[in-house]
Amino acid sequence: MSDKFDVIIIGAGPAGYVAAIRAAQLGLKTACVDAFTGKDGKQALGGTCLNVGCIPSKALLDSSRQYWNIAHNLPAHGISVDNPKVDMATFIGRKDKIVKQFTGGIGQLFKANKVTPYFGTGKLLKGNSVEVTAADGSKQTISATNVILASGSIPIELPFAKFDGKTIVDNAGALDFTAVPKRLGVIGAGVIGLELGSVWRRMGAEVTIIEALPDFLSVADADIAKIAAKEFAKQGLDIKLDAKLNKAEVKKDGVHLTYTDKSGEQKLVVDKLLVAVGRRAYTKDLLADDTGVKLDERGRILVDEHCHTGVDGVWAIGDAVRGPMLAHKGSEEGVAVAEWIAGKAGHVNYDTIPFVIYTEPEVAWAGKTEKELKDAGIPYRVGTFPFAAIGRAVAMNEAVGQVKMLAHAETDRILGVHMVGPGVSELIAECVVAMEFKGSSEDLARIVHAHPTLSEAVHEAALSVDKRAIHKGN
Ligand code: FAD
Ligand code: NAD
Repeated sequence: MSDKFDVIIIGAGPAGYVAAIRAAQLGLKTACVDAFTGKDGKQALGGTCLNVGCIPSKALLDSSRQYWNIAHNLPAHGISVDNPKVDMATFIGRKDKIVKQFTGGIGQLFKANKVTPYFGTGKLLKGNSVEVTAADGSKQTISATNVILASGSIPIELPFAKFDGKTIVDNAGALDFTAVPKRLGVIGAGVIGLELGSVWRRMGAEVTIIEALPDFLSVADADIAKIAAKEFAKQGLDIKLDAKLNKAEVKKDGVHLTYTDKSGEQKLVVDKLLVAVGRRAYTKDLLADDTGVKLDERGRILVDEHCHTGVDGVWAIGDAVRGPMLAHKGSEEGVAVAEWIAGKAGHVNYDTIPFVIYTEPEVAWAGKTEKELKDAGIPYRVGTFPFAAIGRAVAMNEAVGQVKMLAHAETDRILGVHMVGPGVSELIAECVVAMEFKGSSEDLARIVHAHPTLSEAVHEAALSVDKRAIHKGN
């Protein structure tokens, strides 16, 4: 096989591997270069998402939820279990098996679609060649008409709490604890802090989360964040807002933290510390000096609205470029770029990307928050509906949270939907479809929703925009 391709993709995360499969489907001769090494020392395709992100975190969230429910949900159903035990090797091993199944699955998809994988670090050279350096240092150069950069992101490290892989850890470390830490400290009450903090809290750890901002989950709608904060506090997640970490010292008896909050300097000792203060685009060794590809002020690869870098035939997608750091955002950019390369009409609607936090209750939203609408001076109407009045949620003993819908006051077009409650990671999809079709709250209100289902909360929230919800006062 010659080493000249139509498309080379650097990075096999959800942005890169999806771009590779779509390009190959479109008849383009495609290669994908990735350097990620799995626990077995072999190439592990799938990037952060499959290896140390979305998939393993959801595996542990589900296992820990089962364990938590034994003591916190089953008794309400009249079921009790004496002395439940956890086998940590099975707990972590199940997660590893799922990761292996899915990373291996990408290899099979590459084979089936005739994508050529390269194992090593890819560097873009001038003229759309890529130098691939294997782990043993050997190099080869491949070239293509188009190169897609999909190098992803890595965790941000704090200079005064550097990762040591054992006691002060990032997401990868917190997915691989061999025992439940008695006291877990988390820096950052963002998505990773809340999801992985929940995993270990449910398994019995005392979890303290230190968050720099004064508002909890400020990216979400304020009403939804307020409900979520209350529920997380009930579960024992101790979230300290407006708190700034000053020092983290690893000593024999744990990590000694010094932080400052409204009351002054505070001290806390924990057994493990997870630092989850955001991620940054990863471009180390990615670009030769003379490629012409530029980075923005935050170190992300600079692209236009079509993910084009401005250098002929060079594109960039996923966490390495602007926009939310979400697997599905990167995947859709990958599909769109492959289609643009093939001369088709690619498309990504950044206004309707769903956000989900897989805590208990789950949090999900799409579109504008109430504050964003207010700040932009857009007239809106609000409809809300609580899960407490949804028969299915009550039957499940999970009747917390609400659906909140925001629609334009004059046109009734849905501008944002915000949810906290059971199964909202799935419920948001209906709202995204409605928004994608420029639907109105009346459209959703007129659709027949199965009874009894959680989706009735979406239906009732849509009715509530027009003050005609059936199962609550308006
Ligand atoms: P990545 O997945 O980071 O993949 C980039 C790949 O490129 C990696 O394999 C890397 O090794 C490789 N690479 C980089 N540079 C080179 C080079 N020069 N040569 C060769 N290979 C290179 N998102 C969601 O949507 N839902 C979730 O539930 C979710 N959960 C998450 C949980 C955690 C704990 C974390 C950390 C993230 C989570 N995310 C989630 C975010 C999601 O993982 C990322 O948005 C997504 O992985 C980004 O995809 P990507 O392809 O752009 O980059
Ligand atoms: P994040 O941006 O979600 O949260 C980081 C938090 O840390 C913020 O609340 C921030 O204010 C706080 N912070 C920053 N510096 C701090 C400091 N010095 N001290 C205390 N707090 C500080 O980032 P993350 O949780 O690290 O996640 C990284 C990315 O991964 C996110 O962009 C997210 O999109 C993605 N992710 C998504 C999912 C999902 O979709 N369910 C799950 C996990 C991660």
